[in-house]
Amino acid sequence: MSNESVKSFSSLETPGYVGFANLPNQVHRKSVKKGFEFTLMVVGESGLGKSTLVNSLFLTDLYPERIVPDAIEKGKQTVKLDASTVEIEERGVKLRLTVVDTPGYGDAIDNTDCFKAIIRYIDEQFERFLRDESGLNRRNIVDNRIHCCFYFISPFGHGLKPLDIEFMKQLHNKVNIIPVIAKADVLTKKEMQRLKNKVMDEIRDNGIKIYQLPECDSDEDEEYKEQVRQLKQAVPFAVCGSNTMMEVKGRKVRGRLYPWGVVEVENPEHCDFIKLRTMLITHMQDMQEVTHEVHYENYRSERLAKGAPPPTPTSKRNTISENGSISEKDRILAEKEAELKKMQEMLAAMQKKIQQQQ
Ligand code: GDP
Repeated sequence: MSNESVKSFSSLETPGYVGFANLPNQVHRKSVKKGFEFTLMVVGESGLGKSTLVNSLFLTDLYPERIVPDAIEKGKQTVKLDASTVEIEERGVKLRLTVVDTPGYGDAIDNTDCFKAIIRYIDEQFERFLRDESGLNRRNIVDNRIHCCFYFISPFGHGLKPLDIEFMKQLHNKVNIIPVIAKADVLTKKEMQRLKNKVMDEIRDNGIKIYQLPECDSDEDEEYKEQVRQLKQAVPFAVCGSNTMMEVKGRKVRGRLYPWGVVEVENPEHCDFIKLRTMLITHMQDMQEVTHEVHYENYRSERLAKGAPPPTPTSKRNTISENGSISEKDRILAEKEAELKKMQEMLAAMQKKIQQQQ
């Protein structure tokens, strides 16, 4: 982590500014030109403020055509996965952000199958990456793997619900989980601290592995170390969201207006919104690395251990026909691609030999 990105901490507190323009400080120039790709999944019971928070985080309306189902529809509903992609640009830095929402989560009377759709979705993205990685066009792979999952915990309970524990246990080896306490404005400071402690105790007692912020190097400057310490202490982040701008003492703020006053989303005294956004932006790259090196590797090795054949490097379209069999056209295509790959390898080997001889 460079010093520049540390200084960005204060600029993150400017309303109307997300802060990912500081990403180039952390990564290679090449990725700056190409833009960044990041996929965030939001999970939690409906009504906890997921969409409001996502829109507040990225200052964009990700769900313009959203229809909220009524209670009867909800009872029948299974989890659907809804991916929306936006390209946002800040000071010339592009971020291709995909947010995967999970409407219907926890809404059914029996939620035992709740995770299946989510697990299937995560695995499908790994599988697609595995297939693309072994294909010919490896340089242009679109990475749709889930890099981070915000798990929303209700502020109205006394800690984690059995559903929360079960979800995190089933998913912690597949995705970076960041626990978030929703609607922080409904609890007093004391109540919030109590709930945070309870949630962390339950996470530990149940052996749940949430995303861990990396340890700072000893040569890191003090300001950055302090920032990381504060972020670690704030987990689970207690957040509130709002898409309404209002004026408080001459300042334009994003807030929620109550009869007794305004809750300011971006005020660190009111909630951990800024901390959550800082964590997301400054650790985006680390979460991508953990996804690739830990979660994807887990998936890959498990798949190999099961003895499944390596994926055929074909295009995503028409790979498997309706009845599940690989079509003749795709088989020929795969053979051709394999042949081409072999030829390229031979060519590379020959070139290497010639260079050595020279
Ligand atoms: P989702 O179903 O989880 O996506 O929830 P929504 O974002 O649609 O929000 C559900 C309701 O909660 C709406 O009426 C929001 O205005 C309200 N809401 C959203 N965020 C907050 C918050 O931080 N605090 C409070 N008190 N209400 C919120």
